Parts: sequence; structure tokens; C-alpha cells
Amino acid sequence: MPARDGGLCRVKLPGGRLTAGQARAIAAASERWANGVLELTNRANLQLRGIRPDGAVALVAELQGAGLGPADPAADDVRNLLLSPAAGRDPQQLCDVRPLAAELLALLEGDRRLHGLSPKFALQLDGGEALARLDHPHDVWLSARAEGYVLGLAGTPQDVPVALIPEGREVATVARLLHRFLDLASPEQGRMRQLLAQHPAEGLLAGLDLLPVPASPRAPAEIALRLGSHPQRQAGFHWVGAQPALGRLPAASLAAVADLAERLGKDELHLTPWQGLLLPDVPADKALELLTALANLALTTDPAAPLARLVACTGSAGCAKGQADTKGDALRLAERLPADVEVHLSGCPRSCALAGQAPHTLLAVAPGRYDLFVRDATLPGPGRRRATQLSLDEAAAWLARSPSDA
Ligand code: SF4
Repeated sequence: MPARDGGLCRVKLPGGRLTAGQARAIAAASERWANGVLELTNRANLQLRGIRPDGAVALVAELQGAGLGPADPAADDVRNLLLSPAAGRDPQQLCDVRPLAAELLALLEGDRRLHGLSPKFALQLDGGEALARLDHPHDVWLSARAEGYVLGLAGTPQDVPVALIPEGREVATVARLLHRFLDLASPEQGRMRQLLAQHPAEGLLAGLDLLPVPASPRAPAEIALRLGSHPQRQAGFHWVGAQPALGRLPAASLAAVADLAERLGKDELHLTPWQGLLLPDVPADKALELLTALANLALTTDPAAPLARLVACTGSAGCAKGQADTKGDALRLAERLPADVEVHLSGCPRSCALAGQAPHTLLAVAPGRYDLFVRDATLPGPGRRRATQLSLDEAAAWLARSPSDA
């Protein structure tokens, strides 16, 4: 699709996974046909930007030749299924969601009527892992409990589960639910929240043979596990997580990470929904060597580092809607970011870089000028507006004065 800085190509990765060979293919295609920098998205996908007008067809062919993309091109947009990047390896998980994830992806790809879902319509499959993104309820979500999977819908009160799915009925239930959604939703109601604003959830769920929600709660998540080295449930192995500054990774660095995955881990890279990546199955005695190598590639592995606490969208450098150069401003803000403060810089209200509310949001209103919001779950959008038209210096001073305001 076109963008201010040239063509944009989003590569949807099943469950956020790609092989080292696929990572090298993406890196090579980016250098040959695009701007040589990959963007890691908050849906655990990759984007190539700055694609030359004469390169789009060849680029897509190269990516498909590497086994990226769906068997049916019409299915590409709907392959939105988020897993924990540590699924199958997280010591806290109640179950390994990967086999069910494969079945759900096959459903989304194989059922042609589901290709009519909005490209933004997304599913989440949660196995109870400690490393999990739980701050943004997906349109449809399944979460493991001791009794089985509970079902949730974005837009229900407090976003709590609505039912327990009978064991073994997960795929059939999701299929019937998605068809029911398509039956009921108008063209303007592409997302679950929009439909539930007009239709009670009971009508959507009627006849799906669901069970009452069990009382057992979900164990807490710990997103600091996205960075650094952490033991897997498989004895003697760690995963190692890292993120490039503001989710932008030079193609040469992606190729180097792929080489590291092959040499020190498994032939696999997992993208995370925090614009980072995770290398699994690293022998414990190799983890330090890998952390050092990732740091040498300018990737952050410390959750306390300023760049691990900043998120920014593409901004005016690449997006026509951007009111400010959010990525450039975020790099400047990193030098002055107070300890423990997390900030999201958004070029416009669409909030492409972060689906939920950040503790602090700087929403661009003009080049170098931002309105400042603090998280408030009772309000939509970025939260409560606390200051307007701040320069970057003024925003840094405000954050230093009021770091616990959120
Ligand atoms: S949030 Fe707005 S400015 Fe930023 S990338 Fe999305 S549309 Fe563009």
C-alpha cells in the first residue's frame, strides 16, 4: 500500500514466528527493494517501508518464495491471531497453545466467508503464560483456565470472559461465533466493540452451547520478561528477548540476529507485541554470549532502559497523517526520560503503535508540539488530557515533575 515514504508491505507472521532463513530473505528483500529498515509491529508482524515503485511485484514474489504469505492471497488480511512469544516454553503456562493456534489459523485461511472480516479484526489465544500482552482485549479471545478455555469478546463490560468453551469445541465455537458476527454486523461494524454497542452479547452467543465462566482467575502477566534472558519450562534452556530502538531494525541487523538464532538458539525468531523479538531454546550457558551479541547490534535487552519504555508510531516522516516526527522526537526524549516513566508518542489519534493506553501519551498536534495524556481506564482514547501544546522540553519537564501522576 502507498505511504508518504514509498510503498509499505506488511508481512503477517503466523503466531509471530519466522525461521532464520525467512528473516534473511526479508532482510535481503528490504535492502534490494525498500529502505533497508524493518519495522516490528505491536501485532508481532513485520513491515517493509520505502518500497520502490518498480520493486513491489518482485518483493512480494521474493517473500512468497521464502514461504511467507498465505496459500490463498485473499486470506492474508484475516490472519490475525496473537500468541505469547513464549507459548510452549513459558513455565507458568497452563497449556501449550500452539496446536490450537495452528487450527485457528487454518480456519481463518480456509473458510472463505471469514475473509470478509475486517483486516483489523483480531483473535488472541492465551495459554496463561507469564509473558503475555493482556492490556488490549482482542475482538475474540480465548484464555486457558484449569477448567478449559474461557471465551472473551472486546466490548463486553470490563472485558471479562463471557463463557467457558466445552473441551474440544474451541475451533467449532470460534467458527460459529465468527459466522454469527458476520451475519449480524453491518458494513460499519467491522469490530466486535462496534457490534456489541448495538447488539447484546447474549444474542451473539445464543445457541453456541457454552458453559458458565469458572471462578478461577488468570495468573498475572509480567511483561518485563519480554527482554533479557529467562529460563524456559524446558530445563537447561532460556529465551532471550530484545528490542530495537522504537521498533526499527536495520536489515543487516535482522540478518545478523537470524545468524545468532541459528548459532546459539533454534532456527526460529519470535516477534513480540512490544515491537521486539525473542530467540527461544538458547542453552543456559550460551545466554550471556547472546545478550552481548544483541547489545552489540544496538538492541535493548534491559526493561529499565529508556528506549524500552518508549513507543512511537511512524509519524510524519513516513505517514501523511502524522502531525510530528514522533520517532525522532522519541529518540530525543529518551535522553531525558525519568526513571520508570513509560511514554507513547503518537502522530495522530489513530494510535497505530499501541492498541491500549500507555501510562503517558504524547499526542502530536503540530511539529514538535504535543498534548499530554495520563492513563485513565474510564475514558476512551489515550486517557485524561493534562497539558496541551507542549514542546519536547516542556513534556520532559512535566514528566520529571509528575512521574507518578499516572
Ligand atoms: S498513529 Fe497516525 S501518524 Fe502515527 S502512523 Fe498511525 S496514522 Fe500515522
